[in-house]
Amino acid sequence: MLNKGKLIVFSAPSGSGKTTLINMLRKDYPDFEFSISATTREPRGKEKNGVEYFFLSADEFNKKVNDGEFVEHKTVYGNMYGTLKQYVDDSIAEGRIVIFDVDVQGGLAIKEAYPDDVVMIFIYPPSMEILKNRLELRGTDSKETIEKRLNFAKIEMEKMKEYSYNIENDSLEAAYGELIKVLSAEKIINKI
Ligand code: ADP
Ligand code: 5GP
Repeated sequence: MLNKGKLIVFSAPSGSGKTTLINMLRKDYPDFEFSISATTREPRGKEKNGVEYFFLSADEFNKKVNDGEFVEHKTVYGNMYGTLKQYVDDSIAEGRIVIFDVDVQGGLAIKEAYPDDVVMIFIYPPSMEILKNRLELRGTDSKETIEKRLNFAKIEMEKMKEYSYNIENDSLEAAYGELIKVLSAEKIINKI
């Protein structure tokens, strides 16, 4: 029989370095999958159904909501997004290692639905000052958006104790080393 898969759930206040760390992990472990959510938004550029997202119409999405087919779902800027139970169940049954990059609300919903299959990782910045600097340096957000992200960061950090592993991203190398240790301890990878 196949080993069960694992759901690696990453949450972090925006700007903490979650995407950077996930990209390092995906480069070193190309077999890890990135979770595919369902959405009602239109595909962008070369996006394909079943690759970046499962693209659904609003009616299809709402029907699945009513039928209880989502682990969690949310409306973001007028489009609906959600994690499908069927997708997660199949991933676990087929022994896949799937990375979830979700906000705290989504992460905790996944933990509640699949308590035995998750590895919950919260990435946090060394300080709010450093977080602010990183968001400014990244240069993707306006002053107002950065202010909003910083306020939301405080709310998200209150939930970090719900995550089994809290990794501080001060030096990127040290944080990545921590992450590799966590995944070895969880027997997801063999550290050599
Ligand atoms: P998130 O996905 O959590 O929003 P990013 O991965 O986009 O965060 O990182 C935010 C910014 O901080 C990026 O410009 C990234 O290059 C930078 N960054 C990430 N980790 C570190 C680190 N340890 N030290 C300094 N800068 C970092
Ligand atoms: P985009 O349209 O840029 O791909 O994603 C927009 C937003 O939707 C991002 O903040 C992303 O994290 C969020 N998102 C994508 N998939 C899901 C999901 O399955 N559940 C939730 N709650 N949010 C999602």
